[in-house]
Amino acid sequence: MKMELIKVTPRGYCKGVVRAISMAKQARLDYPNENIYVLGMLVHNHHVVEALKRIGIIPLDEPHKTRAQLLERIDHGVVIFTAHGVSPQVINTAKAKGLICLDATCPDVLKTQAAVIEHLEKGYEVLYIGKLGHPEAEAICSLSPAVHLIENEADLKALSIEKPLFVTNQTTMSVFDIESLFQTIKAYCPTALFCEEICNATRIRQEAIARLKDIDVLYVVGDRFSNNSNRLAQIAKEHGIPHVYLIDDVFAIHSAQLKEAKRVAVTSGASTPTYVTNQVIDYLEHYEENKKYPVFDLDLLL
Ligand code: SF4
Repeated sequence: MKMELIKVTPRGYCKGVVRAISMAKQARLDYPNENIYVLGMLVHNHHVVEALKRIGIIPLDEPHKTRAQLLERIDHGVVIFTAHGVSPQVINTAKAKGLICLDATCPDVLKTQAAVIEHLEKGYEVLYIGKLGHPEAEAICSLSPAVHLIENEADLKALSIEKPLFVTNQTTMSVFDIESLFQTIKAYCPTALFCEEICNATRIRQEAIARLKDIDVLYVVGDRFSNNSNRLAQIAKEHGIPHVYLIDDVFAIHSAQLKEAKRVAVTSGASTPTYVTNQVIDYLEHYEENKKYPVFDLDLLL
């Protein structure tokens, strides 16, 4: 029997990622003679990072280094702050060094930062539900010692807070996890103020996954560093899809994954290029065992 392919919509690039990539491309045109650096991965997809390198946009990215530490490596040229946001201290340091600063922070991330700053100024302690080591969480947690990163329920038990509480979250978390953690915090502190900040792009991609029925295999096309791609895979597993694969690109598809699969679905994270997802869809649409992989051309990606 022929395999049925379900192309989940919406999928792929969000507005914040489109904006960040077009800012980087424009920077190359505007500053042809300057070194252009990105503080971290411009968006969490290594194909995009490689394609940007080809036009001379240099990522400064080292595991476990903060944005402030990465900034120490440069003292001239253009620096782009990524879609995930950066703290005001880092922006001020970059300006003080005389760097040309371009801020690709997504407006949705800026909105969360503004809400946190507003409540810190009013004297609240902030519980920020996010992922340790993620740049979006790093930027917000570095605002003040009164911001506490919460990854799970266990982190709540370690806290003792006297002041009024403001609770918010990283934009790309699971809507289901956030709902459940908000309920737990409400039981522990009924007077807490809640502000759910899952961005619309994340929400509608996750809801589309939660609605899928009778799927044997789901491919989530996305980078392992992409929080929103990982959350799509997590939600698919939690909603009972038996085989879920987070794949970088078409080359990660193997016959063994598709044995006896009747209904196969494809989605992609908000930082996954359409070109990469389309190759996966095209490969699966004409799938046969031991099918040859297509040619991957990085120059077609930006
Ligand atoms: Fe902005 Fe959401 Fe896209 Fe992140 S996933 S860049 S917050 S729209």
